[in-house]
Amino acid sequence: MPTETVQPRPDSVGAATATVEVAGVRKRFGKVEALRGVSLEVLPGQVYGLLGPNGAGKTTLLRILLGLVRPDDGTVRVLGRPPGTPEALRRVGALIETPAFVPHLSGRTNLQVLARAKGLPDTEVDRVLEVVELHQRGNDRFTGYSLGMGQRLGVAAALLGDPKLLILDEPTNGLDPEGVASMRALVRSLGAGGTTVLFSSHQLGEVQQICDRVVVIDRGLVLADDTVTAIRDRPGSVTLDVWATPADQAARVLAEYTGQTPVEDGDADDRHLHLASAPDDVPGLIRALVAAGIDIHEVRRERQTLEGVFFALTSHDDDPTEES
Ligand code: ATP
Repeated sequence: MPTETVQPRPDSVGAATATVEVAGVRKRFGKVEALRGVSLEVLPGQVYGLLGPNGAGKTTLLRILLGLVRPDDGTVRVLGRPPGTPEALRRVGALIETPAFVPHLSGRTNLQVLARAKGLPDTEVDRVLEVVELHQRGNDRFTGYSLGMGQRLGVAAALLGDPKLLILDEPTNGLDPEGVASMRALVRSLGAGGTTVLFSSHQLGEVQQICDRVVVIDRGLVLADDTVTAIRDRPGSVTLDVWATPADQAARVLAEYTGQTPVEDGDADDRHLHLASAPDDVPGLIRALVAAGIDIHEVRRERQTLEGVFFALTSHDDDPTEES
């Protein structure tokens, strides 16, 4: 059972208080500005995805939350406390790098060592092994574990003491599809059980499937911070393709109706017009085309995947190491 010390305390975290508060955080490593004024809030009970390409600053931000890296500027609060203080760390579980376990000891014994160091009873080891579904394999030596099992044992270690916040840095990195699915299900079930989870990922599909909220970060800047649905519904995330003849007249109606210049695409036999952002009233647009005597062959409204929005947000041609 969790000990008294891991329960939320009335003086620190209430229902309306953010579990993580980051405001205007900057961090420079030599010439590289890893974080350039990052602000975000993680509310209790949320599964929050930190999404970004290589070098975006995700790990730096997570390390700051754990007090492993000190920001140059800005303010950070974790469970209402400065990061890295014993009060904050006691209720935070983290998996930042590949966990180091003693290979010839069993998963259970490895966890017992960690649990005892934290003053936790062995029953807590059984609890976390069950949560990550390793209870059947708990007595096997760690050397016999697959990469995915090793990662799950790492999450189990992070869950010792029933933390209020779980921080996972790319927990599915390097896992096979089965390991990814299993880790995904684990994070989802932790979120459903009320644990606040902040995790970073390259896996856009997984963020889409398991997060309540996602922050897209690139080159040290937050580009989007919203629910998955809202990010997918941003202007420009739904496109419209229209096949109509005569195409030039159809283009004129589309431009008048939407204020956008449609892109003409396709060959002479299959010419179509593409709008980067579908209007809200597509039936109205169709009526306008018909009223202008235009023949409509096909109209297709496409919602971008989170992946599409993500790439649109993070694509840039310039040098990523260049400073602004
Ligand atoms: P990845 O997905 O590749 O792990 P990331 O989003 O986690 O990337 P960070 O590891 O936070 O990105 O790195 C952000 C930038 O800061 C990178 O340019 C990186 O090289 C640099 N950086 C991070 N830590 C250090 C350090 N200790 N010393 C020097 N530069 C660093």
